[in-house]
Amino acid sequence: MPTFDVGIVGGGCVGLATAYQLRDAGLKIIVWEKEAEPAFHQTGRNSGVMHSGIYYKPGSLKALNCIGGREEWVAFAQAHGVAHEVCGKIVVAADETEIPGLEKIYRRAHENGLTLSRKITPEEIREIEPECAGVAGIFVPYTGIIDYRAACVKMTEILRQKGHKVIFGAPVKALKRQTDGYAVHAGNETYRVGRLAACAGLWADKIARMDGLNPEARIVAFRGDYYRLLVPKVRHLIYPVPDPDFPFLGVHFTRMTNGETECGPNAVFSFKREGYSRSSFSFSDAWNALSFSGTRRFFAQYWQKGLREYQRAFSQKLFHKTLRRLVPSLQANELAPARSGVRALALAPNGELLDDFVFIETERSVHVLNAPSPAATAALAIGRQIAEKILNKTNS
Ligand SMILES: Cc1cc2nc3c(=O)[nH]c(=O)nc-3n(C[C@H](O)[C@H](O)[C@H](O)COP(=O)(O)OP(=O)(O)OC[C@H]3O[C@@H](n4cnc5c(N)ncnc54)[C@H](O)[C@@H]3O)c2cc1C
Repeated sequence: MPTFDVGIVGGGCVGLATAYQLRDAGLKIIVWEKEAEPAFHQTGRNSGVMHSGIYYKPGSLKALNCIGGREEWVAFAQAHGVAHEVCGKIVVAADETEIPGLEKIYRRAHENGLTLSRKITPEEIREIEPECAGVAGIFVPYTGIIDYRAACVKMTEILRQKGHKVIFGAPVKALKRQTDGYAVHAGNETYRVGRLAACAGLWADKIARMDGLNPEARIVAFRGDYYRLLVPKVRHLIYPVPDPDFPFLGVHFTRMTNGETECGPNAVFSFKREGYSRSSFSFSDAWNALSFSGTRRFFAQYWQKGLREYQRAFSQKLFHKTLRRLVPSLQANELAPARSGVRALALAPNGELLDDFVFIETERSVHVLNAPSPAATAALAIGRQIAEKILNKTNS
């Protein structure tokens, strides 16, 4: 039976970053990814933003890992020629009612030590983004963009060069605890590993259950659709002030590393965990989510906003209307439907979204139960934390 010191489930940014942070620890590592390539789900379908850390509660895992992780990505991208740019972003209040929310973000940015974030006037907004209009804004110089998929390809390459194994097309189907580790059935093979890290994104709760755990929270999938901007009206990144009553950042304009600008993502409940179109449906995923008290309570709390998000998901006109609040000159025919991504969000039975990153551990395993945005930005920092937890576990 092939034997390794550490087995890692998931070839997204968190799993690969964990392996990357363990690469020189003198351990034999294996990563199993069920798809044929790395970063096939959340990591490769996100906005490609390296977030600054301005939104998160001071001292939270999100705040700490976002700031550290972003700096590590910039160093990694520079060292390995991964496309990236620290271009900064603006957060814009479209009208007076959004100013208290903007002030709150400004205060939080400074509480998190991001002291170069500064308030900007409507004239300065126009200097930075000539087509953007707002009554006030914040310029955040720390934010950047990166090609996360390319970064994952590079980490795979480095791991393989160092003699570790990263296998694609190898879904982990069963985990069996043994006295000295795990027997892991992945693809058509059974492996023995001493310690295990599970970084399975949309399937985090399922892998935890395979390990005999019974997490209270369940992963619920929220799709985010993007439109592509057909005219060069945006230079960098433009974000709205997030709705304080809805746990998402709001649709924004993002220049990607390939030079295109994308607008989105919205946030709609997805009837399929890996469903990337508006009609995607899986009976078992839908049943799993809808039979859970947390989902029903979440819907009861957010039904009005959820309904509006649904309408917008099917109406380019409504999407356009939202975007025009930030870029008034934007015409409907300057947008074309583009790709979608699906977020894995952990919901508690009381309907609350788990706000921070969540790890659960056993004697020989670490499970990443909740790694929502900014987990791509934070991946190298989260990976370091998981690596430390793994190193502290017995291997005898
Ligand atoms: C639309 C959208 C926009 C976002 N924008 C940003 C952003 O701009 N910046 C940011 O920082 N974050 C962003 N995020 C969040 C970020 O992308 C995720 O938090 C991050 O990618 C999570 O990484 P992961 O490795 O945990 O999950 P994933 O990337 O989903 O990787 C998990 C991997 O595990 C594999 N897997 C699952 N089950 C098994 C199994 N049984 N066997 C083997 N393999 C398995 C999956 O195939 C998958 O490849 C966004 C997310 C979405 C969806």
